[in-house]
Order: sequence, then C-alpha cells, then structure tokens
Amino acid sequence: MEVGYTCQAASSLRANDDFVLATERFVIVLDGATAAVGVESGCVHGVPWLVARLGVNLAGLLVRDFGAGLVDVLRGGIVATMRDHGDGCDLRNPDSPSTTVAILRCGAEFVDYIVLGDSAVVVERGDGELVVAHDDRTAYLTDRSVEGVSRLRNTDEGFWVASNRPEAADKAIAGSVPLADVTRAALMTDGVTRLVERYGRSWLDLLERMDEHGPRAVVADVRAEELASPPGAYRGKLHDDATAVFCRF
Ligand SMILES: [Zn+2]
Repeated sequence: MEVGYTCQAASSLRANDDFVLATERFVIVLDGATAAVGVESGCVHGVPWLVARLGVNLAGLLVRDFGAGLVDVLRGGIVATMRDHGDGCDLRNPDSPSTTVAILRCGAEFVDYIVLGDSAVVVERGDGELVVAHDDRTAYLTDRSVEGVSRLRNTDEGFWVASNRPEAADKAIAGSVPLADVTRAALMTDGVTRLVERYGRSWLDLLERMDEHGPRAVVADVRAEELASPPGAYRGKLHDDATAVFCRF
C-alpha cells in the first residue's frame, strides 16, 4: 500500500487536534473534539495529547498483533490511553477529552477498516463500487448546547467517540474488503468530508482529485469553498482542522 497524506490545522494560531500515523500497512486518523470554553474536563492533558497518545497506543497494538480484530484494537487503545491519563485525571467526567477514530489496515488477504465518530473511510473496489464507512450521527443531534452535547456523548441517543468508555469500540462501523479487489482508498476527517456533506462533491470525486493532485488538493478545495460561503451559512467555525489520506494498492 502506498500512502500519502496531509494534516492541516484550521488556523496557525491554534493547535491541530487532528492526528495521522501512517505506515505501508496501516493508517490511523484521529480528530480530537475541540474543548468547549469554560467546560471542566477533569483532565490535566489537552486534546493534542489525547490524539497523539491514543494514536501511538493503537499503532502499538497493530504492530504487536497484526491480525487482531480492529474492534479489539480500538477497545484496547482506549483502555491503554485511559491508563496513560494517570491518577491526576477524573475519567468519570463526561467532558473528558474525546476523539474520532478511523483506521485502515492492509492485511495479507483483506483490507480492514473501522470508523468511530464522524471521520470517513472510502474503499474503492476494482469494479468501481465504493465502500463508504461514515458515521454522521453528529449531524442529527437533538441538542447542540454544550450541556446537550455533554449529555449525548457516548450514548445511543447521541454519538460515540473514543474517550473514557472502552465499549465505544463496539459502536464503531467496521468491515473488510478482499485485498485483491481494492484499487484505492481514502481516510478523511470531517474538515474534509464537508466537501461531500455541504458542497455537493462526491466521494469518487474526492478520490480522483487526491489521486491526480495529492491529498492537499482536497484541503485546498475545502478552504476555497469555506471562504466562498456566505457568512453564517453553516453552523460552527469557518475552518476546521482537515486531514486527508490517499492510499493506492
Ligand atoms: Zn488526562
């Protein structure tokens, strides 16, 4: 598997809460949730710490047991990261730092993937069919207030992310495609998937664009769309941290 990626902060003034760890055999993409102002997380660490630590823990599990099921890898990564917080953090706090997770692994016979939260994995088969793993539950939250999101996080009524609940791994979208069938694949955080969700592009279009011009081209596209949108057209911040990974088989 040949891998290329870009991981760009929304602004040079803020830390990047996205994180990528890529080898020729697996790719891990994390998108940490930006901490809401004034919310006590019970954690002495920050979001960049969480995504880096979870990323390294997931990679360690993948290296040590390359055939492990990805649900087990994800659960193990969450458990190891909870341990890493140490005694100084209150992991019962529902606002403990959290992150989405997307993993793609190129095994001997299968390409396996898992997605938790609103990042996406797209796998293209030789017959042109696209397998899209994308959990868009955060787009349908019944309450977007700080308190509402805190209440809905890691519940079936709301959405699941990697934080202080190992059972979140069982809520992820996971699957496998025979390696011989796979031609191309991509992983993206929601800073890039908004090209599809907001701006009318197709998943295939994003794959083609990355294939021809590299992952940075789709981040340039999303920045251009954001700047061209009328002020206030979309909820939330103008730009988001944006990560795009392109894999060729
Ligand atoms: Zn902590």
